[in-house]
Amino acid sequence: HSPVDPHAEPEERAVEAALRPSRLADFEGQPRVSDQLGLVLEAARHRGSTPDHVLLSGPPGLGKTTLAMIIAAEMGTQLRISSGPAIQHAGDLAAILSGLTEGEVFFLDEIHRMSRPAEEMLYLAMEDFRVDVVVGKGPGATAIPIDIPPFTLVGATTRSGMLPGPLRDRFGFTANLDFYDANALQHIVMRSADVLGVALDAASGMEIASRSRGTPRIANRLLRRVRDYAEVKHAGRVDPRITSEALELYEVDPLGLDRLDRAVLESICTKFGGGPVGLSTLAISVGEETETVEEVAEPFLVRLGFLMRTPRGRVATVRAWQHLGLTPPAQQDL
Ligand code: ADP
Repeated sequence: HSPVDPHAEPEERAVEAALRPSRLADFEGQPRVSDQLGLVLEAARHRGSTPDHVLLSGPPGLGKTTLAMIIAAEMGTQLRISSGPAIQHAGDLAAILSGLTEGEVFFLDEIHRMSRPAEEMLYLAMEDFRVDVVVGKGPGATAIPIDIPPFTLVGATTRSGMLPGPLRDRFGFTANLDFYDANALQHIVMRSADVLGVALDAASGMEIASRSRGTPRIANRLLRRVRDYAEVKHAGRVDPRITSEALELYEVDPLGLDRLDRAVLESICTKFGGGPVGLSTLAISVGEETETVEEVAEPFLVRLGFLMRTPRGRVATVRAWQHLGLTPPAQQDL
């Protein structure tokens, strides 16, 4: 498992819980989202009503779950958590919704992966706080309407483009989370170091931040790897040199590229003359699953301007050749 994969490992969840800020004021690095969301919550508090449904979109590890927890905490209510893939039957959703208490926050992760019937049930629940439970089969089937208490749905998706329009329209507030800049990540890492009891200096914090692909989850994870290294090799002492040694040991380079990222670029450049090469061929050549290459390595490489996705396949840019210390072919206009 790569240290810079933005998806959470199951055993990581417990550590993450400890590192989550629980108040909006401590949620750093997304000032626009914080301001707008703060206003939505305050207005709801003034009116004494539940806040509008909230849609959070953005890549994994940027704080969607954290924000859902913050919304519940700020409103002083409970949080119920589920995810799209866990709700395959409309009945599963009906059970959850009818069990909600008034004002509760219902966090639905990966909302774009819900089944169609569940999605349609959700429309009605979001709009009218009602579900229609179908009893019986065939011509004798009847829909029994059940009222559910007012609640706030917080939907999260890594692909807002894949969400059907009617569903998107039912959210009163939508926030797109962006990759964090290095300064914000440095703050987050310093705070996490405090929580974990690691004596981290600002320069080491910046070193970790700048290798974290703009993602708090990765920054926190690299911090833990640096802590391991410091404890085993340097009696717990951390400084910028020790930090970069540790990150090199885990094969995270100064730009945050890991072994897979480099393997992808090297493969395109050295085996396929810079591309274009098809995704599945590329994945086989680096010995990885297509999804891992597409969802973990590529978005970051595209963002760095190292890789282009063209209709004919993946192409390495001049910057990629240079980063690998290779000379790009002169005749090609990349
Ligand atoms: P997502 O649900 O988008 O995958 P999470 O909310 O689970 O991301 O966040 C992953 C980790 O990153 C958590 O440990 C969380 O504490 C941390 N994190 C995310 N955003 C922030 C932030 N703005 N400030 C501090 N920590 C953050």
